[in-house]
Amino acid sequence: QSTNMAEFQQLLRSSKNIIAVCGAGLSAASGIPTFRGAGGMWRKYDAMSLATPEAFAQNPSLVWQFYHYRRESAGKAEPNAAHTALALLSIPSQRKGVAPDATFSIITQNVDGLSVKAMDKVLEKHSNKGLSPLMEMHGRIFDVQCTSKWCKRVEYNTSSPICPALAGTEDAVAAGSLDLDIPVADLPRCSKCKALARPGVVWFGEQPKELDTIAKLVKAADLCLVVGTSSTVYPAAQYAEMVQEHGGKVAVFNLERSAGDTEADFLFLGPCEKTLPEALGLAFAVESVG
Ligand code: NAD
Repeated sequence: QSTNMAEFQQLLRSSKNIIAVCGAGLSAASGIPTFRGAGGMWRKYDAMSLATPEAFAQNPSLVWQFYHYRRESAGKAEPNAAHTALALLSIPSQRKGVAPDATFSIITQNVDGLSVKAMDKVLEKHSNKGLSPLMEMHGRIFDVQCTSKWCKRVEYNTSSPICPALAGTEDAVAAGSLDLDIPVADLPRCSKCKALARPGVVWFGEQPKELDTIAKLVKAADLCLVVGTSSTVYPAAQYAEMVQEHGGKVAVFNLERSAGDTEADFLFLGPCEKTLPEALGLAFAVESVG
Protein backbone atom coordinates (compact mmCIF):
# COMPACT_ATOMS: atom_id res chain seq x y z
CA GLN A 1 0.00 0.00 0.00
CA SER A 2 1.30 3.42 -0.95
CA THR A 3 0.69 6.96 0.36
CA ASN A 4 2.84 8.50 -2.37
CA MET A 5 1.02 11.22 -4.35
CA ALA A 6 3.49 11.22 -7.27
CA GLU A 7 3.08 7.46 -7.65
CA PHE A 8 -0.72 7.88 -7.61
CA GLN A 9 -0.55 10.63 -10.24
CA GLN A 10 1.43 8.31 -12.49
CA LEU A 11 -1.30 5.68 -12.14
CA LEU A 12 -3.98 8.32 -12.81
CA ARG A 13 -2.27 9.32 -16.07
CA SER A 14 -2.20 5.73 -17.29
CA SER A 15 -5.79 4.82 -16.26
CA LYS A 16 -8.44 4.47 -18.95
CA ASN A 17 -11.70 4.09 -17.04
CA ILE A 18 -11.84 5.89 -13.71
CA ILE A 19 -14.72 5.85 -11.23
CA ALA A 20 -15.19 7.74 -7.97
CA VAL A 21 -17.34 6.07 -5.30
CA CYS A 22 -18.41 8.80 -2.87
CA GLY A 23 -20.09 9.00 0.52
CA ALA A 24 -21.14 11.45 3.21
CA GLY A 25 -17.52 12.49 4.01
CA LEU A 26 -17.37 14.22 0.61
CA SER A 27 -19.95 16.72 1.84
CA ALA A 28 -18.73 17.03 5.45
CA ALA A 29 -16.74 20.21 4.72
CA SER A 30 -19.91 21.72 3.21
CA GLY A 31 -21.49 21.51 6.67
CA ILE A 32 -23.60 18.38 6.09
CA PRO A 33 -23.12 15.90 8.94
CA THR A 34 -22.23 12.29 8.18
CA PHE A 35 -24.34 9.56 9.75
CA ARG A 36 -21.53 8.09 11.80
CA GLY A 37 -19.38 11.07 12.63
CA ALA A 38 -19.81 13.40 15.60
CA GLY A 39 -22.82 15.66 15.22
CA GLY A 40 -25.57 16.80 17.60
CA MET A 41 -28.68 15.12 16.29
CA TRP A 42 -27.19 11.73 15.57
CA ARG A 43 -26.38 11.24 19.26
CA LYS A 44 -30.01 11.18 20.33
CA TYR A 45 -31.42 9.36 17.29
CA ASP A 46 -29.75 6.64 15.31
CA ALA A 47 -29.88 8.15 11.83
CA MET A 48 -29.81 4.69 10.28
CA SER A 49 -33.01 3.73 12.09
CA LEU A 50 -34.80 6.82 10.70
CA ALA A 51 -33.84 6.13 7.09
CA THR A 52 -36.03 3.04 6.66
CA PRO A 53 -39.51 2.32 5.27
CA GLU A 54 -40.41 0.78 8.66
CA ALA A 55 -39.54 3.98 10.54
CA PHE A 56 -41.73 5.99 8.15
CA ALA A 57 -44.65 3.57 8.51
CA GLN A 58 -44.37 3.74 12.28
CA ASN A 59 -43.84 7.48 12.70
CA PRO A 60 -43.97 9.59 9.53
CA SER A 61 -43.87 12.81 11.56
CA LEU A 62 -40.50 11.90 13.12
CA VAL A 63 -39.00 10.84 9.80
CA TRP A 64 -40.25 13.98 8.03
CA GLN A 65 -38.68 16.19 10.73
CA PHE A 66 -35.36 14.43 10.10
CA TYR A 67 -35.67 14.89 6.32
CA HIS A 68 -36.93 18.45 6.58
CA TYR A 69 -33.77 19.26 8.57
CA ARG A 70 -31.61 17.53 5.96
CA ARG A 71 -33.39 19.28 3.06
CA GLU A 72 -32.88 22.66 4.72
CA SER A 73 -29.15 22.03 5.31
CA ALA A 74 -28.61 20.64 1.81
CA GLY A 75 -30.42 23.64 0.27
CA LYS A 76 -28.10 26.09 2.01
CA ALA A 77 -24.87 24.13 1.49
CA GLU A 78 -22.28 24.92 -1.15
CA PRO A 79 -19.98 22.39 -2.82
CA ASN A 80 -16.47 22.22 -1.36
CA ALA A 81 -13.09 21.80 -3.07
CA ALA A 82 -13.48 18.01 -3.27
CA HIS A 83 -16.81 18.31 -5.17
CA THR A 84 -15.19 20.87 -7.46
CA ALA A 85 -12.17 18.66 -8.08
CA LEU A 86 -14.46 15.79 -9.12
CA ALA A 87 -16.56 18.14 -11.25
CA LEU A 88 -13.44 19.37 -13.05
CA LEU A 89 -12.41 15.80 -13.69
CA SER A 90 -15.85 15.29 -15.25
CA ILE A 91 -15.19 17.83 -18.00
CA PRO A 92 -12.67 16.50 -20.50
CA SER A 93 -11.32 19.97 -21.42
CA GLN A 94 -10.74 20.92 -17.76
CA ARG A 95 -8.90 17.80 -16.75
CA LYS A 96 -5.32 17.63 -15.73
CA GLY A 97 -3.18 14.58 -15.16
CA VAL A 98 -5.58 12.20 -16.93
CA ALA A 99 -5.27 10.60 -20.37
CA PRO A 100 -7.33 12.57 -22.95
CA ASP A 101 -9.38 9.51 -23.89
CA ALA A 102 -9.97 8.32 -20.31
CA THR A 103 -13.54 8.02 -19.03
CA PHE A 104 -14.57 9.28 -15.61
CA SER A 105 -17.81 8.66 -13.68
CA ILE A 106 -19.05 9.64 -10.25
CA ILE A 107 -21.08 7.13 -8.25
CA THR A 108 -22.38 8.88 -5.16
CA GLN A 109 -24.32 7.62 -2.17
CA ASN A 110 -25.05 11.22 -1.22
CA VAL A 111 -28.51 12.67 -1.66
CA ASP A 112 -27.59 16.32 -1.07
CA GLY A 113 -27.21 17.26 -4.74
CA LEU A 114 -23.83 18.95 -4.14
CA SER A 115 -22.04 17.06 -6.92
CA VAL A 116 -24.62 18.39 -9.40
CA LYS A 117 -24.27 21.90 -7.92
CA ALA A 118 -20.48 21.69 -8.32
CA MET A 119 -20.84 20.68 -11.97
CA ASP A 120 -23.29 23.53 -12.57
CA LYS A 121 -20.81 25.98 -11.06
CA VAL A 122 -17.91 24.69 -13.11
CA LEU A 123 -20.05 24.80 -16.27
CA GLU A 124 -21.09 28.37 -15.64
CA LYS A 125 -17.49 29.34 -15.17
CA HIS A 126 -16.13 27.49 -18.17
CA SER A 127 -19.31 27.16 -20.25
CA ASN A 128 -18.34 23.67 -21.25
CA LYS A 129 -20.39 20.72 -22.39
CA GLY A 130 -19.83 16.98 -22.34
CA LEU A 131 -20.05 16.02 -18.70
CA SER A 132 -19.23 12.56 -17.42
CA PRO A 133 -21.97 10.41 -15.88
CA LEU A 134 -23.07 11.14 -12.33
CA MET A 135 -24.95 8.33 -10.61
CA GLU A 136 -26.95 9.46 -7.56
CA MET A 137 -27.61 5.90 -6.45
CA HIS A 138 -29.54 6.79 -3.28
CA GLY A 139 -31.66 9.41 -5.01
CA ARG A 140 -32.06 13.11 -4.28
CA ILE A 141 -33.18 14.74 -1.05
CA PHE A 142 -35.44 17.16 -2.95
CA ASP A 143 -37.47 14.37 -4.51
CA VAL A 144 -40.83 13.81 -2.84
CA GLN A 145 -42.67 10.57 -3.58
CA CYS A 146 -46.36 9.71 -3.21
CA THR A 147 -46.92 6.70 -0.91
CA SER A 148 -50.09 5.58 -2.72
CA LYS A 149 -49.22 2.43 -4.66
CA TRP A 150 -51.57 3.53 -7.45
CA CYS A 151 -49.93 6.91 -7.85
CA LYS A 152 -46.24 6.74 -6.78
CA ARG A 153 -45.71 10.17 -8.34
CA VAL A 154 -42.22 11.62 -7.77
CA GLU A 155 -41.82 15.38 -7.76
CA TYR A 156 -38.65 17.44 -7.52
CA ASN A 157 -39.53 20.01 -4.89
CA THR A 158 -37.03 22.45 -3.42
CA SER A 159 -39.61 24.43 -1.43
CA SER A 160 -38.40 25.68 1.92
CA PRO A 161 -40.15 24.61 4.05
CA ILE A 162 -41.64 21.60 2.31
CA CYS A 163 -44.90 22.20 4.25
CA PRO A 164 -46.02 24.80 6.84
CA ALA A 165 -46.18 22.32 9.76
CA LEU A 166 -42.46 21.55 9.45
CA ALA A 167 -41.38 25.21 9.30
CA GLY A 168 -38.80 25.98 11.98
CA THR A 169 -38.54 22.39 13.27
CA GLU A 170 -35.00 22.20 11.85
CA ASP A 171 -33.69 24.25 14.78
CA ALA A 172 -35.05 21.73 17.29
CA VAL A 173 -33.61 18.86 15.25
CA ALA A 174 -30.22 20.59 15.05
CA ALA A 175 -30.34 20.85 18.84
CA GLY A 176 -30.90 17.09 19.04
CA SER A 177 -34.66 16.88 19.40
CA LEU A 178 -37.20 15.32 17.05
CA ASP A 179 -40.10 15.20 19.45
CA LEU A 180 -42.80 17.35 17.88
CA ASP A 181 -45.94 15.41 17.21
CA ILE A 182 -47.13 16.73 13.84
CA PRO A 183 -50.47 15.30 12.68
CA VAL A 184 -50.12 13.11 9.57
CA ALA A 185 -52.69 15.29 7.79
CA ASP A 186 -50.27 18.24 8.06
CA LEU A 187 -47.29 16.39 6.55
CA PRO A 188 -46.36 16.80 2.86
CA ARG A 189 -48.99 15.42 0.44
CA CYS A 190 -48.88 14.34 -3.16
CA SER A 191 -49.88 17.30 -5.35
CA LYS A 192 -51.87 14.99 -7.64
CA CYS A 193 -53.76 12.48 -5.45
CA LYS A 194 -53.26 14.13 -2.01
CA ALA A 195 -52.02 10.92 -0.38
CA LEU A 196 -49.22 11.13 2.17
CA ALA A 197 -45.88 11.81 0.49
CA ARG A 198 -42.48 10.52 1.65
CA PRO A 199 -38.92 11.66 1.00
CA GLY A 200 -37.99 10.30 -2.45
CA VAL A 201 -34.61 8.95 -1.35
CA VAL A 202 -33.53 5.31 -1.26
CA TRP A 203 -33.85 3.98 2.29
CA PHE A 204 -32.01 1.11 3.94
CA GLY A 205 -33.60 -2.10 2.67
CA GLU A 206 -34.66 -0.50 -0.65
CA GLN A 207 -33.13 -0.98 -4.09
CA PRO A 208 -30.58 1.70 -5.06
CA LYS A 209 -30.99 3.44 -8.44
CA GLU A 210 -28.98 2.99 -11.66
CA LEU A 211 -27.59 -0.40 -10.58
CA ASP A 212 -27.28 -1.75 -14.14
CA THR A 213 -25.31 1.25 -15.38
CA ILE A 214 -23.18 1.26 -12.23
CA ALA A 215 -22.40 -2.45 -12.68
CA LYS A 216 -21.08 -1.71 -16.18
CA LEU A 217 -18.96 1.20 -14.96
CA VAL A 218 -17.50 -0.89 -12.12
CA LYS A 219 -16.75 -3.76 -14.49
CA ALA A 220 -14.90 -1.48 -16.90
CA ALA A 221 -13.00 0.50 -14.25
CA ASP A 222 -9.25 0.19 -13.94
CA LEU A 223 -9.06 2.82 -11.18
CA CYS A 224 -11.52 3.38 -8.34
CA LEU A 225 -11.31 6.46 -6.11
CA VAL A 226 -13.11 5.89 -2.80
CA VAL A 227 -14.03 9.27 -1.33
CA GLY A 228 -15.45 9.96 2.15
CA THR A 229 -17.32 6.74 2.72
CA SER A 230 -17.09 4.33 5.64
CA SER A 231 -17.68 1.55 3.05
CA THR A 232 -20.24 -0.17 5.23
CA VAL A 233 -23.40 0.40 3.14
CA TYR A 234 -23.94 -2.15 0.34
CA PRO A 235 -23.79 -2.36 -2.60
CA ALA A 236 -21.47 0.71 -2.80
CA ALA A 237 -19.15 -0.84 -0.21
CA GLN A 238 -18.18 -3.67 -2.56
CA TYR A 239 -17.36 -1.66 -5.71
CA ALA A 240 -13.69 -1.08 -4.82
CA GLU A 241 -13.16 -4.77 -4.17
CA MET A 242 -14.88 -5.64 -7.46
CA VAL A 243 -12.53 -3.31 -9.35
CA GLN A 244 -9.53 -5.00 -7.71
CA GLU A 245 -10.91 -8.46 -8.49
CA HIS A 246 -10.55 -7.78 -12.22
CA GLY A 247 -7.10 -6.21 -11.84
CA GLY A 248 -7.96 -2.54 -11.28
CA LYS A 249 -6.47 -0.30 -8.60
CA VAL A 250 -8.08 1.45 -5.64
CA ALA A 251 -7.20 4.76 -3.97
CA VAL A 252 -8.99 5.71 -0.73
CA PHE A 253 -9.46 9.36 0.36
CA ASN A 254 -10.93 9.26 3.84
CA LEU A 255 -10.59 11.27 7.03
CA GLU A 256 -9.68 8.19 9.02
CA ARG A 257 -9.29 4.45 8.64
CA SER A 258 -12.37 2.78 7.13
CA ALA A 259 -13.64 -0.71 6.29
CA GLY A 260 -11.56 -2.49 3.67
CA ASP A 261 -8.92 0.21 3.28
CA THR A 262 -6.09 -2.17 4.20
CA GLU A 263 -6.65 -3.73 0.76
CA ALA A 264 -6.41 -0.35 -1.05
CA ASP A 265 -3.42 0.27 -3.33
CA PHE A 266 -3.27 3.91 -2.21
CA LEU A 267 -4.45 5.40 1.08
CA PHE A 268 -4.68 9.16 1.61
CA LEU A 269 -5.91 9.87 5.11
CA GLY A 270 -7.14 13.38 5.91
CA PRO A 271 -9.94 15.70 4.76
CA CYS A 272 -10.77 14.88 1.13
CA GLU A 273 -11.35 18.56 0.36
CA LYS A 274 -7.56 18.85 0.72
CA THR A 275 -6.20 15.45 -0.31
CA LEU A 276 -8.35 14.98 -3.41
CA PRO A 277 -7.58 18.25 -5.28
CA GLU A 278 -3.92 17.76 -4.38
CA ALA A 279 -3.83 14.18 -5.65
CA LEU A 280 -5.66 15.13 -8.84
CA GLY A 281 -3.17 17.93 -9.41
CA LEU A 282 -6.07 20.40 -9.48
CA ALA A 283 -5.12 22.78 -6.67
CA PHE A 284 -4.78 25.75 -9.02
CA ALA A 285 -7.95 24.95 -10.98
CA VAL A 286 -9.96 24.56 -7.77
CA GLU A 287 -8.84 27.99 -6.53
CA SER A 288 -9.77 29.60 -9.82
CA VAL A 289 -13.30 28.18 -9.71
CA GLY A 290 -13.80 29.28 -6.11
P1 NAD B 1 -20.75 7.42 6.62
O1 NAD B 1 -21.32 8.48 7.51
O2 NAD B 1 -20.95 6.00 6.99
O3 NAD B 1 -19.17 7.60 6.49
C1 NAD B 1 -18.59 8.83 6.20
C2 NAD B 1 -17.09 8.61 6.07
O4 NAD B 1 -16.51 9.83 5.68
C3 NAD B 1 -16.40 8.17 7.37
O5 NAD B 1 -15.52 7.12 7.07
C4 NAD B 1 -15.66 9.43 7.81
O6 NAD B 1 -14.44 9.14 8.47
C5 NAD B 1 -15.37 10.08 6.46
N1 NAD B 1 -15.20 11.53 6.51
C6 NAD B 1 -15.76 12.46 7.32
N2 NAD B 1 -15.34 13.70 7.00
C7 NAD B 1 -14.50 13.56 5.94
C8 NAD B 1 -13.72 14.46 5.15
N3 NAD B 1 -13.74 15.78 5.37
N4 NAD B 1 -12.95 13.94 4.17
C9 NAD B 1 -12.90 12.61 3.93
N5 NAD B 1 -13.60 11.70 4.65
C10 NAD B 1 -14.40 12.18 5.64
O7 NAD B 1 -21.28 7.72 5.17
P2 NAD B 1 -21.53 6.76 3.96
O8 NAD B 1 -20.40 5.79 3.85
O9 NAD B 1 -21.83 7.64 2.84
O10 NAD B 1 -22.83 5.89 4.35
C11 NAD B 1 -23.94 6.42 5.04
C12 NAD B 1 -25.25 6.49 4.25
O11 NAD B 1 -25.95 7.69 4.60
C13 NAD B 1 -25.10 6.58 2.77
O12 NAD B 1 -26.20 5.98 2.18
C14 NAD B 1 -25.14 8.08 2.52
O13 NAD B 1 -25.66 8.38 1.27
C15 NAD B 1 -26.11 8.59 3.54
N6 NAD B 1 -25.79 9.98 3.95
C16 NAD B 1 -25.75 10.95 2.98
C17 NAD B 1 -25.41 12.25 3.33
C18 NAD B 1 -25.37 13.31 2.25
O14 NAD B 1 -26.10 13.23 1.26
N7 NAD B 1 -24.46 14.29 2.37
C19 NAD B 1 -25.14 12.58 4.66
C20 NAD B 1 -25.22 11.56 5.62
C21 NAD B 1 -25.53 10.26 5.25
